Amino acid sequence: MKLSIEQLRVYEAFENKTAECPLCLIQNEYERQLIEVILGEMVMDSEFYTKLGNEFLFCRRHFEKLNQTYDKLGLALILDKIIDIEINNVEKSAQSINKDSLIRKIFKPHNNIRYDNNQECFICNKIYTNIIDNIGILIHLWIREKDFKTLYKTCKGFCKNHYLLILSYCNHHNTYETGINEFIEVTKEIQNKSLKELQKEIQWFIKKFDYLNADAPWGTSKDAVQRALKKIVGYKEEP
Ligand SMILES: [Zn+2]
Ligand SMILES: [Zn+2]
Repeated sequence: MKLSIEQLRVYEAFENKTAECPLCLIQNEYERQLIEVILGEMVMDSEFYTKLGNEFLFCRRHFEKLNQTYDKLGLALILDKIIDIEINNVEKSAQSINKDSLIRKIFKPHNNIRYDNNQECFICNKIYTNIIDNIGILIHLWIREKDFKTLYKTCKGFCKNHYLLILSYCNHHNTYETGINEFIEVTKEIQNKSLKELQKEIQWFIKKFDYLNADAPWGTSKDAVQRALKKIVGYKEEP
């Protein structure tokens, strides 16, 4: 079977034998590219710009991400548009001012603009859709590609979030994909094995603090804390 670019991307992520979660690798790369495109091309697109600040909002994390890039022009254009909306809101609220509504506006989050709500973040939503698509591709590959099936067994499992997302995807699609029950079983096995190995490494990390073990080799435990964090909360950044 000839693989598409999207399938190859999934394949390659699973070839990375050190990844605590191959889906995090895919997600991080997608997020990086998306931020680049938003600041470069999308901000110049009139349809996107019209919706920006109204329909398209950003959470605090993604504002910080947008701010971490070198080129500040795209971000300045985004902020210009949002300030414009803010001015409009201030003017509107000033027109309809009365004691009750003023108190409500001060103590309640604004109805339209909630940057901290991930559900409404343009980037969070795009990432979610993308990772769901990739889970679909991954299951498709697992069912159709023998080599991928073998490769899948050797991966180190997933972060908690992506693991649960895979299971919930399977529950949703269970009715029409034959082999999906086997896929769920294999995935649970991989995850369980990976967590147990990780726990052993963490436990050796803890034991290394005992002076009796001071000269004993670290083995693979030296970065176990960082890897355990990746497993539990997902990747923050890839170096
Ligand atoms: Zn993950
Ligand atoms: Zn976000």
